[in-house]
Amino acid sequence: MKPLPPGSTIGILGGGQLGRMLSIAAAQLGFDVAIFTDEPDSPAGRVSAKTMVGNYLDTAALADFARRVDVVTTEFENVPAQTAEALIAAGARVAPNPRALAIAQDRFDEKSFFASMGIATPPFRAIASQADLDAAIAAIGAPAILKTRRLGYDGRGQIRINSGADAAGAYEKLGAPGILEGFCAFEREVSIIAARGWDGAIAFYDLCENEHSGGILSRTTLPARVDAKVTQSARHAVTQVLNAFDYVGVLTIEFFVMPDGSLVANEMAPRVHNSGHWTIEGALTSQFEQQIRAVAGWPLGPTNCVAGIEMLNLIGEDANAWEALAADPDVRLHLYGKRDVRGGRKMGHVTKLKFS
Ligand code: AMP
Repeated sequence: MKPLPPGSTIGILGGGQLGRMLSIAAAQLGFDVAIFTDEPDSPAGRVSAKTMVGNYLDTAALADFARRVDVVTTEFENVPAQTAEALIAAGARVAPNPRALAIAQDRFDEKSFFASMGIATPPFRAIASQADLDAAIAAIGAPAILKTRRLGYDGRGQIRINSGADAAGAYEKLGAPGILEGFCAFEREVSIIAARGWDGAIAFYDLCENEHSGGILSRTTLPARVDAKVTQSARHAVTQVLNAFDYVGVLTIEFFVMPDGSLVANEMAPRVHNSGHWTIEGALTSQFEQQIRAVAGWPLGPTNCVAGIEMLNLIGEDANAWEALAADPDVRLHLYGKRDVRGGRKMGHVTKLKFS
């Protein structure tokens, strides 16, 4: 694709903090951003040139959006794949493509996709009834985790099953089609963030080491405490995924690192990722700028990590400490402009850089 010239308009589906940081990066390169969101007064909308508030399934509104933008990308994976299809039907260029969105939205399809490429996953079974669950526990064993197939994120929609007895009534409690996954006694969690351009060029960021609390990412550090072989296998896996989708943009895969050093894929996100927020100050090209470069047909930027990194999420009331954080010369503070502080809500993050 011919590179979009500065002054072009990048359309972003979704109005959250990822869209906000994408929009800021796009502005730095001279682009305008138009946000399409169902949320009035969104964090991304408030820093973007235009916002269209509409329903993601309103084909007339999407056709109007398609006419106003030069390319469309997404900031959250639960945007219906039909939305991307409707935009394409209306003549828009959309990256990533609807197939990648559709597969990443369903945990069973996603794990089946990994498995089809030889990427290791926890043992898993689709669950559509209590009988399925009982049979899956008999096959996989406990402990295991029952998750909703769709719309689960940040640990929501998950039930831990420590023994066969915990399974009683668990399907009803889940309340939706699910997937049972064997529990992985991992040594640590890592993610790989990579980008692919329209021309097939791929760039990788250094592996991120992630800690979760209550299912929500709390801390990312670099360098990850893994040997070079682990990085190589993460790069190999993400390359296969990017190429299989003919993907354009940034994509993230989260892995468990097992005690023997092998990687087990947990999930993928067809977008920029929370574990990559450190790239704003800590890499030569941020993941947000990289996504804009990729979808705009620009060359991908260098991804070198320039320091030791610690990124901490500000969840809920953590963000009330903004005054002290702003006064701390060792932290770079990012706040997402969310109007209400709520428990479990990602309000901002801080990044600490260590130069040796
Ligand atoms: P998810 O929303 O599926 O990414 O799950 C959130 C977090 O729960 C993960 O980052 C892990 O810390 C934990 N988790 C999820 N699935 C498993 C699993 N199969 N085995 C062990 N821990 C898991």
